[in-house]
Amino acid sequence: MHNKTIAELAKGLRSGEFSSVELTTAFLGRIKQHSSLNAYITVTEDLALQEAEAADARLAKGKAELLTGIPIAQKDIFCTEGVKTTCGSKILDNFIAPYNATVVDKFNSAGAVMLGKLNMDEFAMGSSNETSYYGAVKNPWDINTVPGGSSGGSAAAVAARLAVCATGTDTGGSIRQPAALCGITGLKPTYGRVSRYGMIAYASSLDQGGPMTRSAEDAAIMLQTMAGFDEKDSTSVDLPVPDYMAGLSNSLEGLKIGLPKEFFGEGLNSDVAAALEAAINEYRKLGAQVTEISMPTLKLAIPAYYVIAPAECSANLSRFDGVRFGYRCENPVDLTDLYTRSRGEGFGKEVKRRILMGTYALSAGYYDAYYIKAQKIRRLISEDFKKALSEVDVIMGPVTPSTAFGIGEKIGNPIEMYLSDIYTIAINLAGVPAMSVPAGFAKGMPVGLQIIGNYFAEGRLLNIAYQYQQVTDWHQQAPKGFE
Ligand code: GLN
Repeated sequence: MHNKTIAELAKGLRSGEFSSVELTTAFLGRIKQHSSLNAYITVTEDLALQEAEAADARLAKGKAELLTGIPIAQKDIFCTEGVKTTCGSKILDNFIAPYNATVVDKFNSAGAVMLGKLNMDEFAMGSSNETSYYGAVKNPWDINTVPGGSSGGSAAAVAARLAVCATGTDTGGSIRQPAALCGITGLKPTYGRVSRYGMIAYASSLDQGGPMTRSAEDAAIMLQTMAGFDEKDSTSVDLPVPDYMAGLSNSLEGLKIGLPKEFFGEGLNSDVAAALEAAINEYRKLGAQVTEISMPTLKLAIPAYYVIAPAECSANLSRFDGVRFGYRCENPVDLTDLYTRSRGEGFGKEVKRRILMGTYALSAGYYDAYYIKAQKIRRLISEDFKKALSEVDVIMGPVTPSTAFGIGEKIGNPIEMYLSDIYTIAINLAGVPAMSVPAGFAKGMPVGLQIIGNYFAEGRLLNIAYQYQQVTDWHQQAPKGFE
């Protein structure tokens, strides 16, 4: 049962082959059996079984949607009413959200069953899931390696079949990078496509939630539920949501693919490059035309991002002050002591590093030199994407420079860790959508192909990924021991 896709499970639920309670019980059993992966922070067993019963009743009435009765899991960055929502941080270890994120509400209305809340890097800052207060997550393909981050729990859970699918969020690569390292499908939508209401903010102008699934078809089903205007999020875009399933079977004949030469140079592991080359050849066979392009500003993305994202996080995280909610230090002597010790004891090292960098970049005297300069670079990067995407339909490239690295290997070296997002960060600065699609293995570890499209071209990206998944079976492979 646990190897089936959403569409297959939906059929089984409708035909009465199994019930949602049976399906949910099976997944809850797997979560217990594989708890050493540390993919979940909270398992909501009782709630899941109640939701499964409600879903079975709805199925019996013939009022089900595709997601009704399907066991899914939420990244612990999405607020869930009455359920602990930690964002991977000690400062929110005791936080029970008083309301649902819009995304969570949407899954509830669709009748999906929530299995629990998934582990993540603290406040989504990281590329390895090692900054979580709840400990590192293990990559099911090799438990000595990281699953990627910050949505590492989501990627590991989907790859290990501990949830049918999961939500993730992506500020600089956090859906695509863990999807690539765990061999699953991940989609970061256009900025504004999915509501950020109730999604704990890291860098508000970059954050975007999206689906993490085994197949492109499942991603289409999830996005259909997640996407859309929300009056509670002033940056969500008021555009109709297309029928993502309907476009999946379109032909790729004549599709123009651009390969930026900056993506395939030094720094890209040769095993990864070989897998990508084979994937691009499959696209040639499917009728695509492939050309080399140049995007000279890509190299500026990491330095610009590490000014803008910390600047925004330093403002967003000021609300965690020990007064209103979350962790409070013991016996504060005065207000300053309360603030400084609550934050000092509540936040981890990486989060503090970002707050310091951001506060510095925003302070008088440095604002023009760093923050304004980074914003100008951001504009240039967007222009580069606009130009490239007027010449080709989509851009393809790697998601990560290498396959999953060892737990502990990069955590002591922030610069090296930051470089693991070198191919994903520019996409967030531009705000365009992008996917990571399983594209083979290098020495037994999964490799992801990145497909980047124009604003609101999620449907086209899903179509391009789906067609590739009709002629390859990388996305169906399960890690050993989790089949
Ligand atoms: N690794 C990047 C960071 O640490 C991106 C994280 C993300 O997309 N949330 O900021």
